[in-house]
Amino acid sequence: MKIPFVDLKTQYLNIKDEVDLAAQKVHEHGCYIMGPEVSELESQLANYTNCKHVITVSSGTDALLAILLSQNVGKGDAVFIPSFTFTATAEVVMLIGAEPVFVDIDPQTFNIDINDLSEKIEFIKQEGRLNPKIIMPVDLFGLPVDYDAIKKLVEDEGLFILADAAQSFGGSYKEKKVGTLADATATSFFPAKPLGCYGDGGAVLTNNDDCAEIIRSIRLHGKGSSKYEIERVGLNARLDTIQAAMMLPKLKIFPEELEKREELARYYDERLKEFVMIPKRINGNTSAWAQYTILVKNREHLSKSLKEKGIPTAVYYPRPIHKQKAYKKFASKEGCPVSERISNEVLSLPMHPYMEKNTAKYICDELINAVTKLS
Ligand SMILES: *Cc1c(COP(=O)(O)O)cnc(C)c1O
Repeated sequence: MKIPFVDLKTQYLNIKDEVDLAAQKVHEHGCYIMGPEVSELESQLANYTNCKHVITVSSGTDALLAILLSQNVGKGDAVFIPSFTFTATAEVVMLIGAEPVFVDIDPQTFNIDINDLSEKIEFIKQEGRLNPKIIMPVDLFGLPVDYDAIKKLVEDEGLFILADAAQSFGGSYKEKKVGTLADATATSFFPAKPLGCYGDGGAVLTNNDDCAEIIRSIRLHGKGSSKYEIERVGLNARLDTIQAAMMLPKLKIFPEELEKREELARYYDERLKEFVMIPKRINGNTSAWAQYTILVKNREHLSKSLKEKGIPTAVYYPRPIHKQKAYKKFASKEGCPVSERISNEVLSLPMHPYMEKNTAKYICDELINAVTKLS
């Protein structure tokens, strides 16, 4: 049995006619840059999330970068980020010349630890070298962070909340969709994310009119009211028309896909909970299930035995960012001990909406088998 980790092929075959036709229409009208499908997609995404402004961009990384630029973040500013995340979260902070302050994570949700965040903000204020400016929580593996707790914490400090929701588009927190939970939200349409396109893509979501207007300008080289009037330093960060067009049929089936991800997650939960640490669920909080990640001892042995049975697994992430060569000079003395421990124990299982029941059963049977043998 050859099991895919994510199954974009089956998805494509299910919507092939619509996707191919959408691409063909773009070739016919020829508006490859900022064509009509871009605004169509933006308005459908706004409807889906109930967010006032959706500005599509060229990637999740550019969405993060554009938001930081819109807030005039730069030299001397501190941006608080979890250390247990994908590189892009930290990268954009460096690119705009600010300094990342690494915060540890909660061992059960894998998301930013609110107490450590509070302590790190206090420390930066006391030290007086940097100006605390942005909190950038990451909805890791698709699970929204506790936004109310973060808002409460930063209320008096006037810090801006930039959500890195690259993995959580489609998720929700207390009945509100991801995209409406922070001052501004960045998401990614990288093919393997819950809602992907057929290449690189992303979006900025915000309810703030001023922020939206600035982001629209930044995505087009900082342009003002006419093309050659430049108001600020911007980026070339547009989403291709053809990507927007091909995403429209994907968005149509997305709610159904999310339900199927949830069904698979529940099946994994039920079968695996006695054998490994399963992902934590939070009342009122729904995950987009970008990844289904368990905690195990003996990870290398386990992933090897699963591989021998044709079951692919992945490690997100083997090393926290503050331990990476490019970033370690920003690590605090005590490091981020939870991130360091968790990075040795995480193992992500195949997760996608097209998995057959018998495949899910086979994965669980073999995993339980291997775990029992190893212990
Ligand atoms: C994927 C991802 C990004 C970057 O998105 P791209 O579209 O690949 O640029 C940023 N942050 C996190 C947490 C991600 O998983």
